[in-house]
Amino acid sequence: RIMMSEPDCLFCKIIAGEIPSEKVYEDETTYAFKDISPKAAVHVLVVPKHHYANVAELAGADAAQLAHMVQVAQSLADDAFHGAYRLIFNTGRDAGQSVFHVHAHVLTGETLDE
Ligand code: 5GP
Ligand code: ZN
Repeated sequence: RIMMSEPDCLFCKIIAGEIPSEKVYEDETTYAFKDISPKAAVHVLVVPKHHYANVAELAGADAAQLAHMVQVAQSLADDAFHGAYRLIFNTGRDAGQSVFHVHAHVLTGETLDE
């Protein structure tokens, strides 16, 4: 499968190693790294290497990749916090999406409120 990247995309540059990141997981299709502004004891972003703008675009194009991202999140939380985690996909600027390369926020490592 050809991985498409966007020249002006921050996360494409992180995946390519052009911008440094704290990697926590990588395989052929998927990259995971620590959020630069953590909102929990463990706050990891899980991204497909292929550029999709948001989770709906990803779900329509490659549902197996979306399922794989959930499995990566589960595995990280199995290691960090007995399998408990919060998974967030901000979708659209008015919902808080600021980077338009789909990413799962994985919040774990401590008991979460709400
Ligand atoms: P969004 O607001 O799009 O749902 O999430 C974007 C996330 O990317 C934010 O939580 C933000 O802290 C994180 N972020 C933005 N720029 C960088 C960066 O250069 N490196 C890392 N590791 N995270 C970043
Ligand atoms: Zn991208």
